[in-house]
Amino acid sequence: MAVARTLSIIKPDATARNITGKINALLEEGGLRIVAQKRLRLTKAQAQAFYDVHRERAFYDELCEYMISGPVVVQVLEGEDAVQRNRKIMGATNPASADEGTIRKAFGQNVQENSVHGSDSPENADKEIRFFFSEIELAG
Ligand code: ADP
Ligand code: MG
Repeated sequence: MAVARTLSIIKPDATARNITGKINALLEEGGLRIVAQKRLRLTKAQAQAFYDVHRERAFYDELCEYMISGPVVVQVLEGEDAVQRNRKIMGATNPASADEGTIRKAFGQNVQENSVHGSDSPENADKEIRFFFSEIELAG
């Protein structure tokens, strides 16, 4: 597998607990390099647009409200097979089902407040990276 990039978000439950460094350590130990990163606060419209694929899901409104409840850290991760590698480091959506050693097992609070987002395919990674980062920010 070639070196690739994926989009990661450290979610409001994690920024609130000041554990972004602990999460970044697990990403780095898992073989991913943080090549771009910034902290920001999403607007409702931005959260809705980012999670547009989930618009029809029962949890969509609650998810968008949660994602604007505090700051997030958006980051671009680079490494071998970055999308799948990050999904493995993150663990299952529901922290209760996540494997030992994963971010969500260690830090996730419940199926919604699960500490991190990660792109689910190389195509979506491209789109999600461009949602948050400009060309000049991706040159590093
Ligand atoms: P993942 O983040 O693992 O890719 P999904 O794309 O299915 O999971 O869902 C996006 C986000 O929506 C999840 O990370 C979580 O914050 C929230 N979510 C997913 N399922 C539920 C649920 N059943 N109830 C509440 N929130 C949920
Ligand atoms: Mg997803």
